[in-house]
Amino acid sequence: MEIYKENQLKIYNSLSKSKELFKPLTEGRVGMYVCGPTVYSNVHLGNVRTFMSFDMVFRYFLHLGYKVRYVRNITDAGHLENDADEGEDRIAKKARLEHIEPMEVVQRYTVDFHKTLEKYNFLPPSIEPTATGHIVEQIEMIKEILEKGLAYEVNGSVYFDVLKYNESAHYGILSGRKMEDAIHNTRALDGQSDKKNPQDFALWKKAEERHIMRWTSPWSDGFPGWHLECSVMSTKYLGEQFDIHGGGMDLKFPHHECEIAQSQTCSGKTPVNYWMHANMLLLNSQKMAKSTGNYILPNEILTGENPILSKAFAPSVVRFFNLQAHYRSVLDFSNDALEASEKGYYKLIDAVNSLDVIATSATSTFDVTAWKKQCYSAMNDDFNTPVLIAHLFEAVKIINQLKEQKTTLTATDLEDFKNTIHAFVFDVMGLTNETKQESSNALDGVVELLIKLRKEARDNKDWALSDQIRDELLVLGIQLKDGREGTSFSMN
Ligand SMILES: [Zn+2]
Repeated sequence: MEIYKENQLKIYNSLSKSKELFKPLTEGRVGMYVCGPTVYSNVHLGNVRTFMSFDMVFRYFLHLGYKVRYVRNITDAGHLENDADEGEDRIAKKARLEHIEPMEVVQRYTVDFHKTLEKYNFLPPSIEPTATGHIVEQIEMIKEILEKGLAYEVNGSVYFDVLKYNESAHYGILSGRKMEDAIHNTRALDGQSDKKNPQDFALWKKAEERHIMRWTSPWSDGFPGWHLECSVMSTKYLGEQFDIHGGGMDLKFPHHECEIAQSQTCSGKTPVNYWMHANMLLLNSQKMAKSTGNYILPNEILTGENPILSKAFAPSVVRFFNLQAHYRSVLDFSNDALEASEKGYYKLIDAVNSLDVIATSATSTFDVTAWKKQCYSAMNDDFNTPVLIAHLFEAVKIINQLKEQKTTLTATDLEDFKNTIHAFVFDVMGLTNETKQESSNALDGVVELLIKLRKEARDNKDWALSDQIRDELLVLGIQLKDGREGTSFSMN
């Protein structure tokens, strides 16, 4: 259903620093690009929060009935250490340290990224392009920028001429940086840089001899600069101008600023209509980052295997925890906060599950339409999920009153109430109906029987049957621990 027609969605645009009414370039369609991961290590929970924010945005657009093309890239080359223009490629470094091929690094962490997102119930993007799959297009864009006179070549490397670009455009338009502060980190070994100005950034880097990731270009055997791939791939799949570009707050400068400069140079147009930036997840009041060791992995939450956790948590609890904060707010991670979210999440899910047993009445004493409107207003106000959650908890209260028949609803109203709750909880927020760990006791009888059968099979040296039963237990999420004292199990 195309309910976008009756919903006035407002989005906070980082470019204008204000909430703007969302008007897509093509009616009924949304083009959205989000900067994806650099696949050189496991994504941490902070990364997951950023992608989860845009998963929620994607889901809401779909719910409103838009046809969405959602592009999220995989950076598998060209991202140097500390986001700098010098130093080693992050993936190549990992490959060198572990004595494996760079593409093995890429494969390992791309698979991990997908598996993690699947566990947390993410919708896959429409297109997931890789930097290494678009080297030809990147070389073409560099040629175009050179032809426009806004880049220069030095010793086989090509740099974007920021000062020259700034004569006719505004470098710093997104981040608000002044020219003198818009200096890109440069760490040249001899203290000398090839760049004309410290503000310039690399479009192509000549590879040093030991650099293993390299491609042939008109300038040198080398590799593209990190910022280039997003300009190339967003243009290729969404056009010279598209609706939404998203990413983490920390990408505003230099990454997104450079993207605007590159794209605008080539097309002469403003590439993005709405820039959206998701805020970070803090741990111990500091930004989660691999480089500082201050992070928690998404898998550790599901197993409870991290000293700061009291136990394992379900993926939907983490999702609920994230959505309790607005995507533009900083969120503090702690075990206590997660436990509080767990209580809230199960309270909500229990109420949703009890909707099926409610009796209908001839009259309604609760205004479902007015309540529904409030839910949409919350989401239309720059995807305000905490306010949406507050309205959903009002619904929990109503559900309890309905059960006690203190409030009544007609069959039509009850149907509408139920559909709306389901849509926001499952489709928009992406929560799943998880079973509480306490209520898994019903499985215990089955588990005991299976363990007994397996023991018998083993005693009879029927290994094939024993393995088969072990696999069936694994499907139930039960891990067997075989020891001298017999077989015990743990659930995950
Ligand atoms: Zn990007």
